[in-house]
Amino acid sequence: MITPRDDVALMQGYHSPQVDVAVRLNTNEAPDAPPEAWTSALSSALQDIDWNRYPDRAATELRAAIGALHGVGPEQIFVANGSNEVLQTVMLTFGGSGRTAAVWEPTYALHSHIARITGTAVVEGVRAEDFSTDLAEVRRVINAAKPEVSFLCSPNNPTGVVDDETTVRSVLEMVTAVDGLLVVDEAYGQFAPWSADVLIGDDVPLVVTRTFSKTWSMAASRLGYLVGPEWIVTELDKVVLPYHLDAFKQVAGTLALAHVDEMNERVSRLVEERGRLVSRLSGLNVDVWPSGANFVLFRPRAVDGSDVWQRLVDRSVLVRNCSSWPRLEGCLRVTIGTSGEDDLFLSALEEALQ
Ligand SMILES: *Cc1c(COP(=O)(O)O)cnc(C)c1O
Repeated sequence: MITPRDDVALMQGYHSPQVDVAVRLNTNEAPDAPPEAWTSALSSALQDIDWNRYPDRAATELRAAIGALHGVGPEQIFVANGSNEVLQTVMLTFGGSGRTAAVWEPTYALHSHIARITGTAVVEGVRAEDFSTDLAEVRRVINAAKPEVSFLCSPNNPTGVVDDETTVRSVLEMVTAVDGLLVVDEAYGQFAPWSADVLIGDDVPLVVTRTFSKTWSMAASRLGYLVGPEWIVTELDKVVLPYHLDAFKQVAGTLALAHVDEMNERVSRLVEERGRLVSRLSGLNVDVWPSGANFVLFRPRAVDGSDVWQRLVDRSVLVRNCSSWPRLEGCLRVTIGTSGEDDLFLSALEEALQ
């Protein structure tokens, strides 16, 4: 009987458990629906799609609109079905058998998972005690393994820590010195004070990935992208399947970009709400990490993290249980919701910590 590739057979799949609850604060989705003007513009645009034809393979209009957002041309934008597919395409292009990717844990589990699926070896370094990027450790890993691809995640999921510009510049120098590629995953970039997109240049081996899933309230549409040098985008376009981006998604994304102001207002609202949540959490018997994203990592001090997670579920509140992840013993991650949802979470948490 046919068996999967040996390394695939040994792999654990990626799981994000869903439980039927009233308050879902476990996957960092936006708490609000997209603007109504977007929904109605989308339904009328649907009438105009030539459904019998393949979509625009180059997704030119969408790439131009995204490029405008970052001050670059469409030739510097690669678009795919969620930023996970962007990452997968990067790994199919620059990783693979005989090549290596580097990550610094704890970080987004899919970086190493996707790398392994593409047959790329993974080397794991560690973050500092406070989960910031430890440049000495990054240097150690890069010099030892000379990885083709190095991943930073800023703000980092699940810790919320933002790498500052000096840090990213330093890592970029180390990566450049070994002829590698630096991927900065900015799935939560809009919630942070700066973006590594300012460092992008023709002869700079840097790409920045973004997604419509979080800030843009469009997780259901599965749309993500990358900003980088044109030559890298050209290589990615060779690797991705033809017509991978359907016409509906292209229209949805292009129309969304006509609502940048509303999106920015939501970001400000969530950042403000994050401040409120952090200060309320600081008054409870938990450790809290500062976050530059739309979620907050915390650790109950007196009660086991998994017990608190279960008690929250019993009160119909779902957060992400990170307590079995390396270095995150006892930690939980809560997504910033509406202030109503966050109040329900806080009162459930107060009870759960008793
Ligand atoms: C949510 C998330 C993504 C996103 O994924 P999509 O495939 O675009 O939904 C990528 N990176 C990080 C760090 C994330 O948290």
